[in-house]
Amino acid sequence: MAIRDRLREMYGIPVNEPHGHPIAELVRTILSQNTNDRNRDVAYGRMRERFPTWEEVRDAPPEDLEEALRPGGLAPSKTPRIQHVLSELGGHPDLDWLAEAPRQQALDYLTALPGVGRKTAACVMIFSFDRPEIPVDTHVHRVGGRLGLFRPNASFEEAHDEMLAITPPEDGYELHVNLIRHGRAICRPRPRCGECELRRMCPWYRRNRED
Ligand code: SF4
Repeated sequence: MAIRDRLREMYGIPVNEPHGHPIAELVRTILSQNTNDRNRDVAYGRMRERFPTWEEVRDAPPEDLEEALRPGGLAPSKTPRIQHVLSELGGHPDLDWLAEAPRQQALDYLTALPGVGRKTAACVMIFSFDRPEIPVDTHVHRVGGRLGLFRPNASFEEAHDEMLAITPPEDGYELHVNLIRHGRAICRPRPRCGECELRRMCPWYRRNRED
C-alpha cells in the first residue's frame, strides 16, 4: 500500500508491545475521556495503589474511588462507568480469554459492555494481545478520510470496517500509529499540505488545492 509505505518513510515502523492486561486497557480507555495522557496515568496510578485488585475497584465505596480518580477529571461520571463495566465481568473479572477467542465473538462481547464502543474494543484487542485491529480515533478518521482510505463522511464504525478490509493484518498497528503521527504533525484539522509528502496521493488535496 503506497500510503503505508510513504508514512513508513516519514515516521518509521512502530513496534507494538502488547502488555497482556485487557481489563487495564479497558479501564484506561474510560479514564482517557476528556483528559490528557498524563492526568489519566496519575488517576490510574492512584486507583491501583488504593485498590490493587479489580474486585476492590469494583466493590469500593464510590466516593473513595471517585476521590482516587479526581486528577483524571470527570471522576463523578467515570467512577460509576468503571464499576458498572467491572460488575459485568463476573465474580472474578477476567478478560484473558479474549487472547484466543474468535475475533467476532471477542468484539461482540466487548461492545456489549456498558459504554464500550468499537474503538475501545479495538484498543483492548490490539494493545493487550496484538490482535489485528485499527482503532479509529479522531486523527485516524480525519487523516484516513482525506487520504481516501474510506468513504468521505463515513461513520467511525464504517471507517473501521473499511480500513481493516484493505489493510494486511500485520500492518494494522503500524498504520494506526503512523496516521496518528501524521495527524498530529502535518495533517492537522487545518492541514499543512505544503509540507506533506503524501500530496500526490491525496484526494483531499486534489479537490482543495489552490490552482
Ligand atoms: S496532502 Fe494535506 S490533506 Fe492530504 S494528507 Fe497531506 S496534509 Fe493531509
